Amino acid sequence: MVLADLGKRLNNALGQLSKASVVDDQVIEALIKDLVSALLEADVNVKLVASLRTKIRARVKKSLEDAETSSQGLRESNKKQIVQKAVFDELVAMVDPGTEPYKPVKGKSNVLMAVGIQGAGKTTTCTKLAVHYQRKGFRTCLVCADTFRAGAFDQLKQNATKAKIPFYGSYTETDPVAIASMGVEKFRKERFDVIIVDTSGRHKQESELFEEMVNIGNAVKPDMTIMVLDASIGQAAEGQSRAFKESSNFGAIIVTKLDGHAKGGGAISAVAATKTPIIFLGTGEHLNDLERFAPQPFISKLLGMGDMQGLFEHMQDVAMANPDKQKAMAKKLEEGKFALRDWREQLSTLMNMGSLSKIMSSIPGLSGAMEGVSDEDAGSKLKRMIFIMDSMDNAELDSDGLIFASGFKCMKMDSEGIPTGLNKRAFRVARGSGTSVKEVEEMLTQARAMSGFAKMAGGMANASKEKDWTK
Ligand code: GDP
Repeated sequence: MVLADLGKRLNNALGQLSKASVVDDQVIEALIKDLVSALLEADVNVKLVASLRTKIRARVKKSLEDAETSSQGLRESNKKQIVQKAVFDELVAMVDPGTEPYKPVKGKSNVLMAVGIQGAGKTTTCTKLAVHYQRKGFRTCLVCADTFRAGAFDQLKQNATKAKIPFYGSYTETDPVAIASMGVEKFRKERFDVIIVDTSGRHKQESELFEEMVNIGNAVKPDMTIMVLDASIGQAAEGQSRAFKESSNFGAIIVTKLDGHAKGGGAISAVAATKTPIIFLGTGEHLNDLERFAPQPFISKLLGMGDMQGLFEHMQDVAMANPDKQKAMAKKLEEGKFALRDWREQLSTLMNMGSLSKIMSSIPGLSGAMEGVSDEDAGSKLKRMIFIMDSMDNAELDSDGLIFASGFKCMKMDSEGIPTGLNKRAFRVARGSGTSVKEVEEMLTQARAMSGFAKMAGGMANASKEKDWTK
C-alpha cells in the first residue's frame, strides 16, 4: 500500500481513541500528538502540520459542542465518531488542492504534455497514462519530444510497443518542437482521442529546459500539461513544482515512486499546497502501477477504510475488456441490482488482474489487514471469499446478502451445538467452504458495502441519464 508506514501510525493513533473509555481533552490531545508525529515522520511540512493541529482541535471542539446542544448529552461512542470524522475531514483537506483537473473528452483529440526533471519517471508515466486511457476506451498514442537524452526515443518505443500503443519519434530530427508538432499533427489527422507528448527533462542550462517546454507548449497547444514529480524529494516538491509552474503553467501533477518512499506524505501535501490537482500516483515500475488520486478515497485507504470508488473503477476497467459483460453489468447497475453472484464474479475476475494486495486494500474492512501482505496471501484470502460464495445456494447467491442478516444477532444453538434459525445458513456456508462464521459475516459485510455503492452509482447514472458508466 502507498505510504504504509504513515497509514499504520495514523491507524494506531485512531485505535487508541477507540480503546479509550472516555473521550476527554487528554485523550484528544494524545491523539493529536500521535497524528502530528506520524505526519512529521512522513516528511509533511512543519507549518502544514501545525496548522492541521489547530484545525483538528477547533473542528473537534465545534463538532462536539454542536452535537452536545442538539442531542443533550453525548454517548462516548458518538464522541469517538465525531473526533474520527474531524480527523478524517482535516486530513482530506490537507491533500485537497480544491481545484479540478482537465478530463479528456471523447470525440476530440486531447493533447496531454508531460514535463518534469529527468529521472522523475516521465517516460514510464506517459506509457502508464496511455494504457490507462486506452482501457477507458480512448484511442491513445505517444509522441517522444525528448531529443536531449540519448536513448529516450528507444525507451518510449520499447514501452509503447510492449503496451501496443502507437507512437511517434525520430532518430534524426534534433528539434523537439518540430517532432512534437509533426507527431501531434499526424495523430490529430488520424483522429486519436488522447495524444501524450513526452518532453525532455534536462538541458545544459535550466533556462533552456524551461524555454523548450514553453516552445513545445506553444506548438502543440496541450489541453493539459502534467508535471511528473518524484515522491522521494519530499517537501522539496513544493519548490520544484512552483519553479515549473512559472514557465509551463501545468494543470495537473502525477507523483511517482510512491511505492516504498517514506517521504511520500511530504510530496503529496506539498503539492496540494500549490493548489494543483494530483491526478495519479505512480506506485511501481510496471505499466499497471498507476493509481487514480482523489483526496477522499486516498485518505480513506490510508486509514484502512478501503476505497469503494477505486475498486469500482477497477471493476469497470475489467468490464471494458469484455463488452458483453460490461453491458450486462451496466444494466444491473441501472436497475440498482448487485447480488452476491455479481460480487463473486467480480472477485474472480479481479484475481486475474494486477496486484492482488493493492486490490484487496481497496475493500473496506480488508484494507488494514492487507497491509504488508504478499500477493500470494492476498490471493488465498480472495479465494476463501470465493469458496464462501461457492457454498451458497442459488437463493442466497441471487440475494444482496440481507438474507443472512438477522441470523448473526441471535446465535441460538440446538442440542448438538448447531445454530438454529437464519444463522443456520451462515453456519452451513462456513462449514461447506471450510471457513468460519466470522469470515462469512465479514465477506457479507463487504459484499453489502459494494452492493450499496453499486446501487448509489447506478442511481446517479440513472439520474444523469449517463448510460456510458465506464467513463
Ligand atoms: P524520465 O527520465 O523522467 O523519463 O524517467 P523514466 O521514466 O526513465 O524513469 C526513471 C526510473 O524510474 C526508471 O527506472 C523507472 O522504471 C522508474 N520509475 C518510474 N516510475 C516509477 C514508480 O512509480 N515507482 C518506481 N519504483 N519506479 C518508477
